[in-house]
Amino acid sequence: MEKAKDLQIQEMKAPRLVMFPLPFQGHINPMLQLATLLNSKGFSITIIHTHFNSPNPSHFPNFHFESILDGLSDDQALDPITLISILNDTCQEPFQDCLSRLLSNGPDPPIKCIITDTVFHFTQAVADQLGLPRIVLRANGATTATATYKLLREKGYFSMKDQRLDSLVPEFPPLRVRDLPSFSTADLEMVYQLSIKMENAIKASSGFLVNTFNDLEPIELEKLRRDYHLVQIFTIGPLNKFSPGSSNSLLTQDHSCMAWLDKQAPRSVIYVSFGSLASISKTDLVEIACGLANSDQPFLWVVRPGSIHGHDWVELPEGFEEKTRERGKIVKWAPQQEVLAHPSVGGFWTHNGWNSTLESICEGVPMLCCPYLWDQKANARYVSHLWRVGVQLENGFERDEIEWAIRRLMVDTEGEKMRERISGLQEKAMNCIRKGGSSYESLESVVDLIMSF
Ligand code: UDP
Repeated sequence: MEKAKDLQIQEMKAPRLVMFPLPFQGHINPMLQLATLLNSKGFSITIIHTHFNSPNPSHFPNFHFESILDGLSDDQALDPITLISILNDTCQEPFQDCLSRLLSNGPDPPIKCIITDTVFHFTQAVADQLGLPRIVLRANGATTATATYKLLREKGYFSMKDQRLDSLVPEFPPLRVRDLPSFSTADLEMVYQLSIKMENAIKASSGFLVNTFNDLEPIELEKLRRDYHLVQIFTIGPLNKFSPGSSNSLLTQDHSCMAWLDKQAPRSVIYVSFGSLASISKTDLVEIACGLANSDQPFLWVVRPGSIHGHDWVELPEGFEEKTRERGKIVKWAPQQEVLAHPSVGGFWTHNGWNSTLESICEGVPMLCCPYLWDQKANARYVSHLWRVGVQLENGFERDEIEWAIRRLMVDTEGEKMRERISGLQEKAMNCIRKGGSSYESLESVVDLIMSF
């Protein structure tokens, strides 16, 4: 039956999908993973992308790439929320022009629909104007999709004082007030407007894809389906495993760490990386270095260029080099999925971006959580308190707490229990993407939906 469907798609001269990722690493990855999956189903893929953080077309020889002007200058240093807000304004015209051009290039191959990141809300108006269906992809999980800024503001959570930060939020167990999404800008009105526009544009779309799997967030998905009952929701994750092998890295990955990992004992290494956007202070860096040095565990530490406030690099504390020479490696950017899959890696100290969280689950690696912003705090709470596959650093970066938490994760029996539990989640994730699994079937339904347009 599926073979017949794939054949039918091929006979139709590869109907085309136009996909438009949000230009951040954590959003480009799932969109290109989805593109690779849909390409394997027989669709021809055109990626429209901004000049800013443009993906590397040479990694995807089967795809057609179209770059659009985004109105940003190279030296513009903006926080992500402001950037998102600007891109939603500046990209509208170039995106519409580009799509119109693609549509007027003749009927062959026909464009079935556009698939855009949920954050690019303006694309719904463009799709409506050009008479194209629009499907949206949410790069994050289901939990934080229901904890919308609008709802949280209406309930007054953003005005809660310090003494209420530890109270549980009745609408979102197991989250406390301090775990609710937070933002990198002081302009909360901008966040409010963005969140309303995004919500409306999701509700007006023809399909809502979420990079999660049913067994991971069943209650939250039920809630999401109630909140967005007007639109069909498809869980198609974890995309990193469903569509492996497609490298979308914006930075050059340092593969030398793989040979270094080969020399370490099984499950002995803690991998440390805070993703593509989070940054730390000079003091944090020193505390992290001391915590790692004092923990006596081998570590692989990603210190991304530009990730230390106001510094290109900071001298590490005296004695660090000597103490860790035999058991530590620092790189600027790692092939993270390969690292997590390496048998020497026993723990992941992460900021809990959604991709990093899913990647850790998929490799059965328990986590040390230090979330910064957005959905990361909620993800960390789920990891530590619902799925119980990690420990959270609750007091920022402090060397003694870091040392203690690393030991809990890597050495203590508590860490062993977390490893068992995350292996259970890993198995469920893999089952979801196998034939007959929920994400596998969901993807088939997405293909049917697209073919019905
Ligand atoms: N990543 C990587 N190498 C690194 C650090 C991160 O390839 O050294 C990838 C990681 O595998 C993940 C993405 O960057 O897919 C980060 O996305 P996430 O949602 O975890 O966090 P964000 O960067 O959006 O905060």
